[in-house]
Amino acid sequence: MTALLFEKLRSLDNFGHSLHAPSYVYQPVSTEQIQNLLQAARKGDISITLRGAGRSYNDAALNGGGVVLDLSRLNRILEWDPVTGLVRAEPGVTLQQLWQQVLPDGWWPPVVSGTMYTTLGGCMGMNIHGKNNYKAGTIGEHVTALTALLPTGAEVTCTPRENGDLFHSMIGGLGMLGVFTSITLQMKRMYSGLLDVRAWPVKSLSEQLAALYEGAPDYDYIVGWLDATARGSSLGRGQIHAASYLHEGDDPDPHRTLQVEYQTLPATMFGIIPKSIIHYFMAPFMNNPGTWAVNTAKYIASLRRSTYRQSHAAFHFLLDYVPDWELGYGKNGLIQYQSFLPKETALDAWTEMLTLSHQRGLPSYLGVTKRHRPDPFLLTHAVDGYSLALDFKVTTRDRTRLAHMLQEFDEIVLQAGGRFYFAKNSETQPETARHFLGDDTIDRFRRLKKRCDPQNILRSDLYRRVFQV
Ligand SMILES: Cc1cc2nc3c(=O)[nH]c(=O)nc-3n(C[C@H](O)[C@H](O)[C@H](O)COP(=O)(O)OP(=O)(O)OC[C@H]3O[C@@H](n4cnc5c(N)ncnc54)[C@H](O)[C@@H]3O)c2cc1C
Repeated sequence: MTALLFEKLRSLDNFGHSLHAPSYVYQPVSTEQIQNLLQAARKGDISITLRGAGRSYNDAALNGGGVVLDLSRLNRILEWDPVTGLVRAEPGVTLQQLWQQVLPDGWWPPVVSGTMYTTLGGCMGMNIHGKNNYKAGTIGEHVTALTALLPTGAEVTCTPRENGDLFHSMIGGLGMLGVFTSITLQMKRMYSGLLDVRAWPVKSLSEQLAALYEGAPDYDYIVGWLDATARGSSLGRGQIHAASYLHEGDDPDPHRTLQVEYQTLPATMFGIIPKSIIHYFMAPFMNNPGTWAVNTAKYIASLRRSTYRQSHAAFHFLLDYVPDWELGYGKNGLIQYQSFLPKETALDAWTEMLTLSHQRGLPSYLGVTKRHRPDPFLLTHAVDGYSLALDFKVTTRDRTRLAHMLQEFDEIVLQAGGRFYFAKNSETQPETARHFLGDDTIDRFRRLKKRCDPQNILRSDLYRRVFQV
């Protein structure tokens, strides 16, 4: 086993390419191989981090100097029932595989991330939310059952009722309690491969938040683009996109639009430019004046309200349109900072943070807002309010100043009663986590960790950073 691991030493990084961690990567193709690795770890002092597609923005799937258990080859859809919409799949199945399997039969995953390249195991490990969080909750709320291997060697089956404490803590448990080996998920019925989409501009942060709040009940999805370079009375301006499912009979040709070929994102832009090279053209604009110019042009273009029909894949996976777009941020990569704030405090807190980023000369180049609701999972990030995700370019010169500013952001968010999402921020400190999760939650998590993993085998750079172990 050890020889096998040493052969696979690789430098892994996070999605934003801002962190690097050399690790011994092991890619099992069966649950027996996972069992064997866990058995070896119980005998020796091996730390293991679970990894799906490695699309977390931070160090959640990194384990500097340790073993990374890459589950992407456990990628079979085990059962699919087009009558009930129930699917059972291995953890390495990606959202792309999933929607491509179920859409032709008239179903769609109930919750998806902004990229289709994430795996089910990774989506469960973080308990992802979509642009419909305020209505559909997190992905974990649609899981009817899961099986997992615990580091003790035990195999468990969990449903919301059977082993309910494990169910609600392993989902969103950062891969620290056990390895999901299969996940059963309820899909959502669709009558078309299209969504009715409406787009309109918002002039300020207060308009942006009001649009999310007031619009949410009327739509199945709602999301805001926020121009984080705009200042003064335009601070927080942007554009809202809201979308609704089509009802039965609304689509004249559902058999066509539900086909995978109809949904597939084109490989070229304007029919000629291969999308794989677009990130090279982005690079010259990834600086303060360049982003200001691009955002201003985008905002002006958004002033024309529009309604149109768009495929599910195009609406949900906009970021996948430009492969490797994150490389446009340059060699030091990017950090995403996402905060979740109650609806009562969001406006003031984000006004303070955006203003601070301008004063520091460190504006975010991309801002995205969403509407949320609380959920019943132990390490939940959700609130009855909103989230704002901000992407920041990392440079050698500004790395320390940026980290310092993000710690100031943390204080603002905590003061405002906010929370954080462990798939995104790279700076969260133990005291920050204790503040928003509370002593009781941290103690419960630690007790579960002791029960499932008494030898503390599952450890990641994120876990060490936030839980200081
Ligand atoms: C472009 C982009 C857009 C995104 N949009 C959204 C969004 O809209 N909403 C959202 O919520 N998130 C979003 N994310 C974040 C992303 O969905 C999460 O980070 C997700 O966890 C990544 O899945 P992954 O397969 O890459 O998992 P990884 O990043 O590899 O791992 C994530 C976590 O899951 C654990 N894990 C992996 N496999 C297993 C397993 N089999 N058993 C137990 N634990 C496991 C890992 O240890 C780790 O803690 C986005 C990310 C990107 C890059």
